[in-house]
Amino acid sequence: MNATAPGALRAAFPVYADAATAYIAANSFDRPTLVIDRQRVGAQYDALNAGLGGAHIHYAVKANPAPEIVRLLVKKGSGFDAASRQEIELCLSQGARPENISFGNTIKRASDISFAHSAGVRLFAADSEAELDKIARHAPGARVYIRLIVENSLADWPLSRKFGCAAGTLPSLLDRARALGLVTYGLSFHVGSQTRDASFWAPVLDQVAPLWHAARAAGHDLQLLNIGGGFPAFYGQTIQAPRAYAAAVMALVKARFGDVPQVMAEPGRGMVAEAGHIVAEVMLVSKKAQDDLHRWVYLDIGRFSGLAETEGEAIRYQFITRHDGGETGPCVLAGPSCDSADILYEKRPVQLPLALRDGDRIVIRNCGAYTSSYASVGFNGFPPLDVVVL
Ligand SMILES: *Cc1c(COP(=O)(O)O)cnc(C)c1O
Repeated sequence: MNATAPGALRAAFPVYADAATAYIAANSFDRPTLVIDRQRVGAQYDALNAGLGGAHIHYAVKANPAPEIVRLLVKKGSGFDAASRQEIELCLSQGARPENISFGNTIKRASDISFAHSAGVRLFAADSEAELDKIARHAPGARVYIRLIVENSLADWPLSRKFGCAAGTLPSLLDRARALGLVTYGLSFHVGSQTRDASFWAPVLDQVAPLWHAARAAGHDLQLLNIGGGFPAFYGQTIQAPRAYAAAVMALVKARFGDVPQVMAEPGRGMVAEAGHIVAEVMLVSKKAQDDLHRWVYLDIGRFSGLAETEGEAIRYQFITRHDGGETGPCVLAGPSCDSADILYEKRPVQLPLALRDGDRIVIRNCGAYTSSYASVGFNGFPPLDVVVL
């Protein structure tokens, strides 16, 4: 049960030579903090962009809305997928041109549509007749793309049927849009977030391609195929490098769709996750009974302060402590709040060092996506995730 000697621990400690890790090692923190490295985001953009060839990236702002990241991506030439007036304003405030912003939420407030239209945003998503009516009223003549439900997602974080229309309703939605004076500009779908292997896209693309060809045959001069997000991040299971992954997806697209005038991709997680790590603290290590096989480890960050994606234990983060290399045992991992749902991993416990104690620092790797944007304003008085952008 004893931890190994400190020297042995250090030798076994994995060496991560990235800027965020170095910054964390050199500083102290009085609350959970996401440290994210802008250069790393820039490199990821370049890799995805190279792999995607002619397709245009519209970064999904919700993954990490840090203004510094939006600004960097503006400079790189990225477009933006925004879901609300506030996200559009953020992009504009950081220098994005309105024609490079798509309003990709299929559930939009009417006043937000008016705002976007008057700001010069031209491209809107819809998946229902009522939304098309709203767009026609508040953004007359706009370009619309119709989002489709896709089945058979092989993603770790599949998106539900909340968004998209069934294949059978697509023809009537396109006809309706045209009758309303809108431009039937394209189709979109989302393969599901954290789709680890490019080959997993094939069954989804197989569903969308016939609909694309049928719509064009029916006289809709579709210009845009929006392939959404789904680009993976490394959480411990093997993934392809971003450039190779993106190129493989584009090859699958080309094989089924031929020469599409414009392809758009909306990476969120794949753009920012690996650029950031969270530094947090162990608040308590305990057992519920003497003979419990596992310990309970409580952190000062939980489901409500940034780790919402542990819901369903779908996204499994990697943890680094100073005791790594020593003997480990299974732990239920939980957050600090007084809500019983604030458990991060229980069904599949996490292996953590037996030497782990309260007060120890714990680093959660590759957390740049869907953490700061998911943190509550301060549930139970625990401060929301702090963000440092390098
Ligand atoms: C969230 C979202 C994305 C980003 O998805 P990732 O899996 O993080 O890449 C892209 N497009 C739309 C419409 C989204 O809602």
